[in-house]
Amino acid sequence: MRRKLVAGNWKANGLMADARALAQSLASALWHDEVDVAVFPPFVHLSATLDTLRASPVAVGAQDSSEFPAGAYTGEVTAEMLADLGCGFVLIGHSERRTLLREDDRLIGRKLSKALACGLKPILCVGETAEERDQSRAEEVVLGQLNSIWKHLGADGLSRLTIAYEPVWAIGTGRSASPQEADEVHHWIRNWLVQRLGLPARNLRIIYGGSVNRTNAAQLFACKNIDGALVGGASLKPDEFYEIHLHAAASRLR
Ligand code: PEP
Repeated sequence: MRRKLVAGNWKANGLMADARALAQSLASALWHDEVDVAVFPPFVHLSATLDTLRASPVAVGAQDSSEFPAGAYTGEVTAEMLADLGCGFVLIGHSERRTLLREDDRLIGRKLSKALACGLKPILCVGETAEERDQSRAEEVVLGQLNSIWKHLGADGLSRLTIAYEPVWAIGTGRSASPQEADEVHHWIRNWLVQRLGLPARNLRIIYGGSVNRTNAAQLFACKNIDGALVGGASLKPDEFYEIHLHAAASRLR
């Protein structure tokens, strides 16, 4: 059985004191061992968050990493630096980066290769826009994004990813996909993975992201194909993030 993953994306929020306070609240909580929990602070808050969570089961990851190795790449943060710092996970291809920073599948593929080569565990974000869903193109768009990555990474690389299905229209809007909508897309992704990887595809986690909160988490986690959540806004509230993790733990007992 796949372990559920509850991941908190702090985005570009908070100053150092806020990151420390948030991490401190998480450090003092009692986490269920059958659920994996991770948080993704801004780059400049990674060290402080890692220090605060050192003795906690909450893992720390980065929100992005460079396609480049060490060298003359001003402003970049390399995957090797992140691994050296103690990051386990990295988010790659978040829709905000795809849209605002014009990241395309080719760049995302190169970032994933570099992250994997440095021993990071990438969470690849995919998802369709509202317009694409209205045109009944969600399956084509999501599987198209995955196809590009598979061509770049091959089966071995693909088999080392976590996939986050994040419909663009649900991110930060307060309008989550319904459990049925999310589960359907996860089912498409699972079948697509099985066709490419065979049985090992059953071990890959497919998590859902898009306005997950304490109210909708239980229903989402009850779905057969949903292996956890990537949580944005609600991850900035430690009580709510903790409650979401409790729903993930409870869903394993059903
Ligand atoms: C996200 O940032 O990946 C996200 C899903 O945000 P929110 O939960 O705020 O919609």
